[in-house]
Amino acid sequence: MRVNVTLACTECGERNYISKKNKRNNPERIEMKKYCSREKKQTLHRETK
Ligand SMILES: [Zn+2]
Repeated sequence: MRVNVTLACTECGERNYISKKNKRNNPERIEMKKYCSREKKQTLHRETK
């Protein structure tokens, strides 16, 4: 049930992280505060396809 997801910055769109999630526990798109290397600050990152 574990799938790879890409986390993209919601402010600039940069894809900064690759993560895994459990589809059963997190059927929705996951969001988390992460450091954006392009903007050099913490921004909200959201799962993309
Ligand atoms: Zn960014």
